[in-house]
Amino acid sequence: MTGVLAKFASQILDMDAGEQLAFLLKSKHLDDDLKHIADKVFNGVRITVAEGVLLYERGEVGYLGVLANFIREKKHGDITYFNRNFHIEPTNLCVYDCKFCSYSRLIKQRDDGWEATMEEMLSQIKSYDNEPVTEVHIVGGVLPQYNMAFYMDLFTAIKRHRPNLHIKALTPVEYHYIFKKAKVDYATGMAMMKDAGLDSMPGGGAEIFHPEIREQIAKDKCNAEQWLQIHEAWHNLGMHSNATMLYGHIEAYWHRIDHMERLRQLQDRTGGFQTFIPLKFRNKDNQMSHVPEVSVVEDLRNYAISRIYLDNFPHIKAYWAMISRETAQLALSFGVNDIDGTLDDTTKIYSMAGAEEQHPAMSTRELVELIRSVGRHPVERDTLYNVIADYRDTEFEVEAQSKFYRLPVLDNK
Ligand code: SF4
Repeated sequence: MTGVLAKFASQILDMDAGEQLAFLLKSKHLDDDLKHIADKVFNGVRITVAEGVLLYERGEVGYLGVLANFIREKKHGDITYFNRNFHIEPTNLCVYDCKFCSYSRLIKQRDDGWEATMEEMLSQIKSYDNEPVTEVHIVGGVLPQYNMAFYMDLFTAIKRHRPNLHIKALTPVEYHYIFKKAKVDYATGMAMMKDAGLDSMPGGGAEIFHPEIREQIAKDKCNAEQWLQIHEAWHNLGMHSNATMLYGHIEAYWHRIDHMERLRQLQDRTGGFQTFIPLKFRNKDNQMSHVPEVSVVEDLRNYAISRIYLDNFPHIKAYWAMISRETAQLALSFGVNDIDGTLDDTTKIYSMAGAEEQHPAMSTRELVELIRSVGRHPVERDTLYNVIADYRDTEFEVEAQSKFYRLPVLDNK
């Protein structure tokens, strides 16, 4: 490292996030447009669509990191959330044929897939009876037998067994399909799901909203307007959900900003989104395998711009199972304040798409150490970001059993 660079690095490293941004604002090397955006971030002023695109086109990774980390630390300090969760994936068969999907098999490839029964899913729930998990995440392919009645019965049975286990389940892709079959409108359908025990909605199925891209990669499933309407109907019931964006394939930068703009507008109306989760396109074993994956630098730029653009989203999450543990650690300096959960090797969605983690599972201790080793403050949350346990100073010679939050099991049949 040259003397000038070393001096610059040591100056920056000694500063807190606000001082770093103030230092950046004084730089003679920053062009006026980027300085104007930095000034807006410093003063908590929302950036425009054009400025969002400009960040993608001209914002280099260090600059974006300083802006995003300033916002992250203003909202959350050093706190980095994780939870204890597991997934249930009812089936990997699907009536749809999304080009980027490495997970699903068309019905004609039935021998290559799985179709879990209600009993099998309930037995998976019961296998966690003695585990301190707080959330089950249910999402999979779309098949006719998994209809509205099936999912309502499943949610009811889960709640009967373990009332406080948070059910985060299904995306607008499934809801649009099952409501259409049942001939109910979105508002009625979501209210019925709530009554059956649904607690929140994950963010999947959003992909890229703009029809120019959506029609090429996911043309048959619910469109952008339907995706947003279903979330709005859910938010109107006073409930929460997440949102995703599948990036790094055939979209242009402005498609990403268009996507986030639609989310930002809905969030202004409802305030129901908790977390935005950028999902990196992975190219293993799908119909877009010829499309190269973007670099880790582009992943970090994308996290940072998401944090800057979505000023009304409380949280930005990096799925460690999708982008690797090391990139998740780096992302904590680029606007991310949540790295998802323990997972317990219960999801195949990322591993089948070529993610580094082929059997994603981390113990609480591993997650805590992952977060602490990059100087952040690990906090276990529930799905709604209530604090379960603070691990800032926990020593792990003896596993901290006393901190485990055990949900009661009522119906042990
Ligand atoms: S992304 Fe979802 S809807 Fe599309 S094919 Fe895969 S499982 Fe089906």
